[in-house]
Amino acid sequence: MKLSGIELNKSLSKGAVDFIDSEKLHSLIKSTKEDKGHYREIFAKSLSKTPLTLQETAALLAITSKEGLEELYNAARELKKVIYGNRIVLFAPLYIGNHCVNDCAYCGFRKSSHNTVRRTLTEEQLVKEVISLENEGHKRLILVFGESPLYSPEYIAGCVSKVYSVRSGKGAIRRVNINAAPLDVDGYKIIKAEGIGTYQIFQETYHKETYAKYHPANTIKGDFMWRLDGLDRAFEAGIDDLGIGALVGLYDWRFETLGLVSHAIHLKERFGVGPHTISFPRIQPATDMNLPLPYKTTDEEFKRLVAILRLSVPYTGMIMTARESPAIRNEVIHFGVSQIDAGTRLEIGGYEKPKGSTQNLNEEQFQVGDTRNLDEAVRWLMSEDFIPSFCTSCYRAGRTGEHFMEFAIPGFIKKFCTPNALLTLIEYLEDYASAETKAEGYRLIEKELAQMEDGTFKQGLQKKIEAAKAGERDLRV
Ligand code: SAM
Ligand code: SF4
Repeated sequence: MKLSGIELNKSLSKGAVDFIDSEKLHSLIKSTKEDKGHYREIFAKSLSKTPLTLQETAALLAITSKEGLEELYNAARELKKVIYGNRIVLFAPLYIGNHCVNDCAYCGFRKSSHNTVRRTLTEEQLVKEVISLENEGHKRLILVFGESPLYSPEYIAGCVSKVYSVRSGKGAIRRVNINAAPLDVDGYKIIKAEGIGTYQIFQETYHKETYAKYHPANTIKGDFMWRLDGLDRAFEAGIDDLGIGALVGLYDWRFETLGLVSHAIHLKERFGVGPHTISFPRIQPATDMNLPLPYKTTDEEFKRLVAILRLSVPYTGMIMTARESPAIRNEVIHFGVSQIDAGTRLEIGGYEKPKGSTQNLNEEQFQVGDTRNLDEAVRWLMSEDFIPSFCTSCYRAGRTGEHFMEFAIPGFIKKFCTPNALLTLIEYLEDYASAETKAEGYRLIEKELAQMEDGTFKQGLQKKIEAAKAGERDLRV
């Protein structure tokens, strides 16, 4: 099928089903009442690492009392600490091009936004961007694309391969994730062959009427089922590392929470693997965006959403983006977030620009909330007792579905995740950090080592730490 110049085999995956039961979700939100005894049982279930049902998630959504919310936040904090450890993985988004055939009403890249300056990085510019990112210390990127015949699967695959090939000093990008349009099975296969990490597609809203309101029917994205089935087709093509998400603020946040949980349950039931990550971006101002947003989500509602998701899908990584302000990131990060972007620039070609130059909304998809650079973000995380991590070990050792491992294998975090996070932190401290960050970093590393049991494992790690300090790179336990 040819749509706006894009060739697609628009057939859905073999077992495609509409797993969003709107009536059920609405009725759960309406009929579930706050019940202290019940929500406490649910917290205990979640803390025993069992994913929650839709009914149980609705019971958490019904909590509104001050006491209940305190307990909810505490449970999310505890789940994060006890089960997940204290690592936060860092990445940067790299915008490759903003041409787009779709017309999503909230997006600065939409085709009817005439003030948007349209650009696609040339190969030379792409290399320069990657060099700038490597020079900052990044090891993990997500490549972001509009939907356009320019960004064919072959083109996206070419970008991935180019990014992996760039080396600047001791820098290297070790994991490339993708946020691009849903493809057909053959398209995904072409991209998978380049060795991508996560393929991320946000459903935007799981509420069909709202979806139709923001995505015109005569565009590719206007097809709700094509998008809802997008990650199933990716799985069919062999990509088992999938990222789901909702653009928070298009519709009732409680409905979207149930939509995300329905999606996670569906993937787990159908393929035996839940999503690798969940994202919950909140809508930000964008070029020519002048929308009534009757469901704009408050900070308090956003906190509830993140805490509830943490408890509902304990096996899934959670991503909080730089759309949020430093104040919100500082608070919400404790409720179970496992990945954040830092030093983010959304302008096409933005990383190459001089540091501190102002951002230009006409070249960006939306406005960034947290403009701290990577060094500041690393220091901030450490001041909150988190280990900033650039780790890509599991993925590169062929252990996909890494979050599942963390839970399923007793002691996995202690044995692999924390030591590997520390080794990647040392690389950062030695190669890129400011003097202040470096000093803080080594204080943190000493503290983490002091908490480890003495023995051969710790000695082995200490040897690797010394080797990393002396300049050896890409060490793993
Ligand atoms: N074009 C592809 C698509 O739509 O799936 C992928 C890239 S799109 C640039 C990435 C995501 O940005 C969208 O899925 C949407 O959730 C988010 N986004 C769009 N406009 C936004 C806005 N004004 N504020 C915050 N996030 C936005
Ligand atoms: Fe295009 Fe994606 Fe923006 Fe929609 S969200 S206009 S598809 S870039």
